[in-house]
Amino acid sequence: MQQGKPPKTWFQCIECRARYPINSIIYRCKACRSLLEVQHDMQELRRRDASEWKKLFQQRYKSTQWPYGSGVWGKKEWVLPDIDDANIVSLYEGDTNLFWAERLGKQIGLDDLWVKLCGNSHSGSFKDLGMTVLVSMVRQMIAEGAPLQAVACASTGDTSAALAVYCAAAGIPAIVLLPRGKISTAQLAQPLANGALVLSLDTDFDGCMRVVQEITEDETIYLANSMNSLRIEGQKTVGIEIVQQFDWHVPDVIVIPGGNLGNVSALGSGLTMMKDLGLIDRLPRIVVAQAQRANPLYRAYLKNFEVVEPMQAETTLASAIQIGNPVSMAKAIRTLRQFDGMVLDATEQELADAAALGDRTGMYNDPHTGVALAVLIKLVQAKKIARTDRVVVISTANGLKFTDFKVGYHEGKLGFEGVHRNRPIELAPNVAAVKAALQKVLEARR
Ligand SMILES: *Cc1c(COP(=O)(O)O)cnc(C)c1O
Ligand SMILES: [Zn+2]
Repeated sequence: MQQGKPPKTWFQCIECRARYPINSIIYRCKACRSLLEVQHDMQELRRRDASEWKKLFQQRYKSTQWPYGSGVWGKKEWVLPDIDDANIVSLYEGDTNLFWAERLGKQIGLDDLWVKLCGNSHSGSFKDLGMTVLVSMVRQMIAEGAPLQAVACASTGDTSAALAVYCAAAGIPAIVLLPRGKISTAQLAQPLANGALVLSLDTDFDGCMRVVQEITEDETIYLANSMNSLRIEGQKTVGIEIVQQFDWHVPDVIVIPGGNLGNVSALGSGLTMMKDLGLIDRLPRIVVAQAQRANPLYRAYLKNFEVVEPMQAETTLASAIQIGNPVSMAKAIRTLRQFDGMVLDATEQELADAAALGDRTGMYNDPHTGVALAVLIKLVQAKKIARTDRVVVISTANGLKFTDFKVGYHEGKLGFEGVHRNRPIELAPNVAAVKAALQKVLEARR
């Protein structure tokens, strides 16, 4: 922190508005126990006008000017201005591709469907966007003399992968608590490879979350879950980035899968900031997609958010959103109210078939993107989204992390017959057998 200058950011309670310094070790309000969020000195940010911000962000976009070529740090002034560049731990996260899913869109009744591939990032999910900010702040606090020994998180697989990567890059010990048997093989391999201390607990994510909150009451172990609002500051760049990639035009609808619900509040926060600072003059609609087996937000939505209850999440293929008691429920509800939001859920077969349908058009979807696509298909069928609407689906992780899901689908081992199942044809290694098989297949296509 620069000595003597007033801070440009601070933590603020979302309920009672109590403030805490940005370099304090705190995750909830001391007065009322509510969630905190990072607030910025907007007066300071208004010293640049909208066109100056656009120009600055554009100059830095994908440049090699460290660390500003990162999608997150290219927006440093809006994310975490009170940090010395020397403490930033960046792997050039963000600035992921946004592409026109033309063929899939036509098949489901949309002319202007786009997919934001957040999984094309260093550790293979959007979690990198938040973790670069959190680990950078930890490095700064250590440099300032804070007695931090390690950073810890509970995870459904992607948070731990991101934490392990950034901590390894910074040389800071990482501790991850995982629900045993409930994450993919790749997600287990990632923190092991990066040298994290991996604790595999015989419980679910909510159980791991309860334990890690107690462990991190010891202030020398820093909590890296998304209730730590530093992560939200990095993740909020996704919405800003989408608008920037559309040449500063706002799409009509953004669909995002939700579990612990930090990411939807981050998406809302970035877009709100753009509007407050005059870079855009309207907001998109936000749709949160949940797995039917872990749908506490959907249940609350059906009751107009008047009854909000945790539930016991059941096993779902969308393992990263198998969460029954989302930490950021209150923030997500606030976002949905601001963005004319909708919430829908998807069954196991719906999410798997939607992922596979997308794959048939050249995507390679993880199950969570499958949840978002399944919900989108239902909304188009129900005419809640129009053919001409510009829709962006946020794809949260790389499909390559979920080989078990893909193989299970095409081998027919998920407990249902996938509509888009594609089986290998086993043949003797000779030309006649291959020719016969080809003829059969090509005839069937005619
Ligand atoms: C973490 C995660 C989500 C859910 O994000 P929340 O902030 O917990 O709602 C969705 N998809 C993937 C792949 C994730 O890793
Ligand atoms: Zn408070």
